[in-house]
Amino acid sequence: MSGFCATRRNDGDRDGADEKEQRMSEDDFQEHDCDLCGSSDAIEIEVARHYTDGQPLHVCKGCGFVYVRRRRSAKRIAEVWSDDIYGEGYTARIPAVKARQVYVAEFLDTSIGLKGKAVCDIGGGEGQFLELIGTQEYGAKAFAIEPSPKNCKMMSAAGIENFCGSIEDYRASPKFKDRRFDVITIMWTLENCQSCRTMVDAAYDILKNRGHLLIATGSRILVPFKKPMQYYLNTNPADTHCFRFSANTLGGVFAVSGFKQTHINRYIDTDYLMAIAQRTDRSKDIPWEKDDYRQVIDFFKRWHQETQKHYKDD
Ligand SMILES: [Zn+2]
Repeated sequence: MSGFCATRRNDGDRDGADEKEQRMSEDDFQEHDCDLCGSSDAIEIEVARHYTDGQPLHVCKGCGFVYVRRRRSAKRIAEVWSDDIYGEGYTARIPAVKARQVYVAEFLDTSIGLKGKAVCDIGGGEGQFLELIGTQEYGAKAFAIEPSPKNCKMMSAAGIENFCGSIEDYRASPKFKDRRFDVITIMWTLENCQSCRTMVDAAYDILKNRGHLLIATGSRILVPFKKPMQYYLNTNPADTHCFRFSANTLGGVFAVSGFKQTHINRYIDTDYLMAIAQRTDRSKDIPWEKDDYRQVIDFFKRWHQETQKHYKDD
């Protein structure tokens, strides 16, 4: 998906927005417990409602994970992304996206080395990142799993090997039964899927033993505020952006699926949070540090105050 802050303000006409709201009201929603620790004890981050058209965002009282409780099916959320949010005309070929892809490539290369590695990007988009790591400079063997047929066509034309479908489709496909990768990348995608656990577990299954998983996200929390809150939260359906990660809870995402974190970037003064973890044999529990939910609530409160005081009308 590799979203770049698409918001409903791109919709154009009001009739289209009404139609989407009508469809949404007919959709089937289910309440979810915390994806990381399984607790159902969560508290709403009240200030978020100012920016989400009243849609609630919660924090788990057990581990401090920030997540959306009410979600539709994975299939429906994927449809909403491709039909209602991206629509026609979305492209990742803009300077800000290219810059962050170069940053990921450099982070991977300096941390674990890319030369000769079989790399699979989940949510390969238009293939821009894979094109980059396939160059002589990085020397990786690039592969994409991407649900959009339009994007897959584009990648095939550029000579990038790809599978058109979801990660679950790929895992179920007999064609790729014995194929395993050295590195999996999930970039600006995990926060937008219905179950972060399902996606990371699927990555586990298609990785070689002791292979590496990189996760990169712009949805980082418990850091200095990088922008006014209305640019961070928006009025898109809340379940199209189910998760927001701190360095600790990203570590939790790895740990609960059997990955041991090996590298993390300087997320405190970078716009992105990214970390690399190694696949283990799941024979031991992997410890991870939890966040205090009260600190998470306080963080959003302070950010809201800062926004209201200085950037309300931006
Ligand atoms: Zn939890």
